[in-house]
Amino acid sequence: MFDDRVALVTGAGSGLGEAIAKDLARHGARVVLTDIDLESAQRVAGEIEATGAEALALRQDTARPDDSRVVVEQTLERFGNLHLAVNNAGIGGAQAPVGEADIEDWNRVIDINLNGVMYGMRHQIPAMLEAGAEQSAIVNMASIHGTVAALGNAAYTAAKHGVVGLTKNAAAEYGPDGLRINCVGPAYIRTPLLEGLPDEALDGLTAKHPLGRLGRPDEVAPLVRFLLSGEASFITGAYYLIDGGYTSV
Ligand code: NAD
Repeated sequence: MFDDRVALVTGAGSGLGEAIAKDLARHGARVVLTDIDLESAQRVAGEIEATGAEALALRQDTARPDDSRVVVEQTLERFGNLHLAVNNAGIGGAQAPVGEADIEDWNRVIDINLNGVMYGMRHQIPAMLEAGAEQSAIVNMASIHGTVAALGNAAYTAAKHGVVGLTKNAAAEYGPDGLRINCVGPAYIRTPLLEGLPDEALDGLTAKHPLGRLGRPDEVAPLVRFLLSGEASFITGAYYLIDGGYTSV
């Protein structure tokens, strides 16, 4: 499906990013895995290489604008082109209502979860226009909290709403070039991001999904793959929920 295409996935050392990177590699892409935790990206890259696919692990802090430029340059040095990007890296942030929020925590979540997506696209898009916009596509990782509140975590809600808006803007700006840019909105997915939550909180979250369970990373990866693929050739600027019914209630 993605033969000869080069895909960059941020936050690829764990959870959703890991599942997405492995899925893209299984479908023929050469994958650049970036993470603030280089060792985790190297582990996943090693597992991909063990299947015979090509992978490159790089350290990137998506909150640092320059890191986004550098990883695109390193991708071009190694593979010559960049066609596909998944701006996935993100953190949960601390719990507090708006009137008690820690401003440093707010800034950190906005820096990684929203600004990081902007910094990524700022450098990915020129490379994709160079590679051929119609062979290229971007998927940004929003969340159900791109459309409904995450109680006690306004920074996360604001960042993910921002990702939806940023995606629409970029899609509208680069549609005339043929470059498609979409985002996805998973509900709660079993990844290390949820590890800190006590059992009662997880039970409460589970009950909010009409399907009666949390999602799995391997259930999100095929949606991302579809949006990156030619099968989604008329889809751009869209926000696809994948939420076990969470937002339908
Ligand atoms: P995770 O914690 O399993 O993985 C996140 C990865 O991002 C980690 O490897 C981490 O090292 C990396 N990372 C963190 N900060 C970074 C930074 N500044 N720069 C680069 N890499 C960084 O989490 P996950 O659940 O796989 O989350 C991935 C994305 O999916 C996030 O954007 C998250 O908001 C979103 N999301 C998660 C869920 C869920 O329930 N798990 C639901 C909806 C959306």
